[in-house]
Amino acid sequence: MTFRDFNLDPQLVEGLDAMGFEKPTPIQEKAIPLILDKKNLIACAQTGTGKTAAFILPVLHNLLVNGSKGINTLVLAPTRELAMQIDQQIEGFSYFTNATSIAVYGGGDGQTWVQQKRALAQGADIIIATPGRLISFLGSDKVDFSSLKHLILDEADRMLDMGFFDDLMKIIKQLPEKRQNLLFSATMPPNIKKLASKIMPHYEEVAISISKPAEGINQQAYMTHDSQKEPLLLGILRDKTYKSVIVFASTKEKVKNLTRSLKKQGEEVRQFHSDLEQIEREKLMQQFKGKNVRILVGTDILSRGIDVEGIDLIVNYDVPPDPEDYVHRIGRTARAESTGTAITFINDKDIKRFMGIEKLIEKAVPKLDLPKELGRGPDYKDRPRSSHRGGRSKGGGGKSKSRNFRKGRR
Ligand code: AMP
Repeated sequence: MTFRDFNLDPQLVEGLDAMGFEKPTPIQEKAIPLILDKKNLIACAQTGTGKTAAFILPVLHNLLVNGSKGINTLVLAPTRELAMQIDQQIEGFSYFTNATSIAVYGGGDGQTWVQQKRALAQGADIIIATPGRLISFLGSDKVDFSSLKHLILDEADRMLDMGFFDDLMKIIKQLPEKRQNLLFSATMPPNIKKLASKIMPHYEEVAISISKPAEGINQQAYMTHDSQKEPLLLGILRDKTYKSVIVFASTKEKVKNLTRSLKKQGEEVRQFHSDLEQIEREKLMQQFKGKNVRILVGTDILSRGIDVEGIDLIVNYDVPPDPEDYVHRIGRTARAESTGTAITFINDKDIKRFMGIEKLIEKAVPKLDLPKELGRGPDYKDRPRSSHRGGRSKGGGGKSKSRNFRKGRR
């Protein structure tokens, strides 16, 4: 199948050719015909599967065929990074068209607020917004949604996790009732169906193998005590064939401390978390995308939606709390059929969690031996529930079948 089979407007096909998109991804194959057919849709697809093009191409096609006056499409997304990224993709696809889009998201200074307000009042064919920010503009009667034809909720599960349900309903109340609704979500918990039933009477459902990391990701893990994590990471980072690296840690504090230690060791590293000003986050993302920063250490704020090409390595310094987050984190690498490596450090407290991840992805992730000089890590087996205090000493020598960990890379 090729994009030509969808009979999309030639200007869009030209845009796709220019972007080097040759054939549709599975979610695009399934969703595009239904959206062109004006159906409401729940689509289960994670970031990295090509979901943005799946919902934007048919919307742009309709815009080109039917023309538009006023705001035609509203895309709601959980984070400013994702909103900006969707906007950038729209710019790419609509390069050979007259379609216009604006992104409206929080952060920034008073000037940004004024600019966004003005842009909203002037209107654009497609508005991409984070819910909280859009609400702050809705009091103004200058935002006119009366000609809206499509509502898209992207990463709907994430928006609900972030507590946006009421905001979403408030926004949706202001939209014309007759519209097409497209709800994209990486996971399908019951509250997504509840949301769907509130906003659309009938819908089609499409799913592609949810919760399965892309094939191109080489997943590995190390069993480590906490004290072994930092030297292990430093050893891995010494491999300069990893040119673009993201390290995920569980808390802001950990991110800050780890960044500090890596810097002390001479690594070129920056931190990414919610304490950073929006402007700093954008600048940092640009530097990382431009390959001017090699290593980003961040919290899960980095794990969703960030579309950076050519990330070679993801390190989970801690096992993510939720198995789905694992899929999101490692999905930062091997995007759109490229390859990449994802390495997870598992301490003895996180074994059960990691077992949950392996169950979800239906795959056992190979556990590599620690490099000899680090000693031995915990064993990968479920811990008994008793409060037994004995056990092996941390990182103790013992009998180790460890080998030089650089050989562990495949
Ligand atoms: P998304 O899941 O929408 O975040 O897309 C992930 C990445 O895949 C983005 O960089 C897209 O530009 C890229 N992509 C989406 N669809 C295709 C396609 N059909 N062919 C090649 N790359 C694609």
